[in-house]
Amino acid sequence: MTRSNYAESELLSPLTKLKGVGDRLREKLARLNLHTIEDLLYHLPARYEDRRHLTTVSNLGAGQSAPFRARVISAAEIKRGGRGPKAVFEALVGDETGTIALKWFHYQRNWMERSYRPGREILGFGEVRTFGPNREILHPEVEFDPDAQLDARILPIYPLTEGISQQRMRSLVHAAVATYAGLLRSEIPKYLRTRHSLLDLNEAIYQVHNPDNNVAIEKLQDRTSMAHRSLIYADFFYLQLGLALRQDRQNKQSGRAFAVSHRYTRPLLEQLPFQLTPAQKRVLSEIKHDMMAPAPMHRLLQGDVGSGKTIVALLSALIAVENGAQVGIIAPTEILAEQHYRFFATWLPNLQLNIALLTGSTPGRRRKELLHQLATGELHTIVGTHALLQDDVRFNDLGLGIIDEQHRFGVKQRNSLRKKGSNPDILVMTATPIPRTLSMTLYGELRISIIDQLPQGRIPVVTRVLSEAKRAGLYNFIKEQTQAGFQSYFIYPLVEESETLELKAAQDAFIQLNDDLGDVCRVGLLHGRMRSADKDAVMTSFKQGELDVLVATTVIEVGIDVPNASVMVIEHAERFGLAQLHQLRGRVGRGAQKSYCFLFHSHNCSAQGRERLHIMERYRDGFNIAEADLQLRGPGEFLGTQQSGLPEFRVADLLADREILEYARADAFECIAADALQRAELAPMLETMERRWGEKLELADVG
Ligand code: ADP
Ligand code: MG
Repeated sequence: MTRSNYAESELLSPLTKLKGVGDRLREKLARLNLHTIEDLLYHLPARYEDRRHLTTVSNLGAGQSAPFRARVISAAEIKRGGRGPKAVFEALVGDETGTIALKWFHYQRNWMERSYRPGREILGFGEVRTFGPNREILHPEVEFDPDAQLDARILPIYPLTEGISQQRMRSLVHAAVATYAGLLRSEIPKYLRTRHSLLDLNEAIYQVHNPDNNVAIEKLQDRTSMAHRSLIYADFFYLQLGLALRQDRQNKQSGRAFAVSHRYTRPLLEQLPFQLTPAQKRVLSEIKHDMMAPAPMHRLLQGDVGSGKTIVALLSALIAVENGAQVGIIAPTEILAEQHYRFFATWLPNLQLNIALLTGSTPGRRRKELLHQLATGELHTIVGTHALLQDDVRFNDLGLGIIDEQHRFGVKQRNSLRKKGSNPDILVMTATPIPRTLSMTLYGELRISIIDQLPQGRIPVVTRVLSEAKRAGLYNFIKEQTQAGFQSYFIYPLVEESETLELKAAQDAFIQLNDDLGDVCRVGLLHGRMRSADKDAVMTSFKQGELDVLVATTVIEVGIDVPNASVMVIEHAERFGLAQLHQLRGRVGRGAQKSYCFLFHSHNCSAQGRERLHIMERYRDGFNIAEADLQLRGPGEFLGTQQSGLPEFRVADLLADREILEYARADAFECIAADALQRAELAPMLETMERRWGEKLELADVG
């Protein structure tokens, strides 16, 4: 066995390898997600207690917590009458300066009696209360027979689970650290560690668990000690190394260098009723640059709602088509796919180009026909849903794949689209602005383009959080808007996971709104349980202005474009994420008219929930809102737990540690890019990276 294999197998051994850990304890530890020795090494203290300064018993002040050394004077269970606990275990302890009572309401009598033997020395800690003239500590933390070295120190306090005491956990971790920390390999080159004053991994692990008395305790508490920073850095570094490697492999692949002939793009630009914004032009030239380069493009296009990503996608598609290649576009929902299809279909036929739509509800015969045309190259562009990723969908020559609303798809889907061509260019688009910390981890191997400017003439959407008292007034306002020729949305969140409930909520709302608005407005209903032909029919009549008010569940969340809509009403708004609310709000304000977004919250909405909604009144820029949302809810919820795809770091926190993320990323990319390191140095790092992140990054796939 080589040394590295040996270290790995030891670190990955089950915890039962530790002395005193049997199956029962192993099960308890598993509840904390601790399975291997390595897991335990990374089970970091949740906080630290400053026990560097022992107090004499007489100096234990009420309301304070300070460590003290004392001896047991007497101890016994005391039965109580009256209300409350029937019995209490009491130990009187003291030193030469005085005595204090320790009390427990929950205890195991036998164990307590055996442990609190008169004369035994203890190290105690807990909040002191006064009880008449006496001082006492309820459920103190106690260590027995403390050795001299335990005396004065900064004590790590670990996250626990039922059935494991603080002391037990501490001794387990410390046993693991003493025996195994030395096996942790630090392949991160020394020059990088020096650059940021970081410790070797094993030293860092040792120090977080056994902090030096000279360390500033605040730094330990807020995880900015040198030891913490070193662990956080390593956490980020290896993931970024994987991403860098992926980008590097992508860059080295041979793709296709497209030429820009303007054959189709020029006539399209001439026909467009508007000029591209400077931001659109910039982004388009970034895309062109990638498409003309010999390596395949992997670019993420971010742009706030309404910033005009679709036209950029269309122009990119035309570049591929000008080169005789085909384009495949996938969107997460049928409605979106269909909308893209319509947009593309307004322009492509004028240019004598063929386009088609393929979704799950495309009839079998039509599908067969489309697949044939796709395989022969007769179709230049195809728009679709997941249906486009099925195995039997074959392109004659896929040159560009476009993925809309990337966050709804995983790396897998991106790859399966990619595999339908020979290293085609890939453009992924998202209208959910993703704060940089997240995009660097989620899409870290993609290059990023941002459309950071809305087309001219957009009037900011007036946004108000409304109380129920304003509802009647709002209905009048909506009727006025209808009479002025504008349209409105009413959005309901999915109430439950249950389909029947969702259906009922949407239908009830529809009936109610028909009662309230029906004299003036034509009201339509759109929800996720409808057959897609019915959805289409409703959507189409709304787009064509045959409906004034559209009652919808969140199926319209992304991308729907009806410029004539001027009012967006969102019910139970607190149930949505801010980014989602911003998406919804983006459905209005797309035309020249002044537009409005009204947010109703539920009766039982918390004050904090309402505060969150007011952020929508303050900001109109999606990046600001995304940032605020991320701060409020954390990365997991921000992304939606289901498909978040967030990497699980051992120590690092994407929000708190973003600064370290920045330099860990820069370093990792530097290591890979410049071939700065000798192969021999790189190999063990890559090995660790592979073990840690290989599966997540699906590196084998990129090959
Ligand atoms: P999103 O980025 O949210 O996907 P869209 O591509 O749907 O935005 O564009 C929103 C609307 O703005 C569409 O109606 C589109 O035709 C229009 N649009 C796009 N670019 C411009 C521009 N440069 N000037 C004016 N209108 C534009
Ligand atoms: Mg869009």
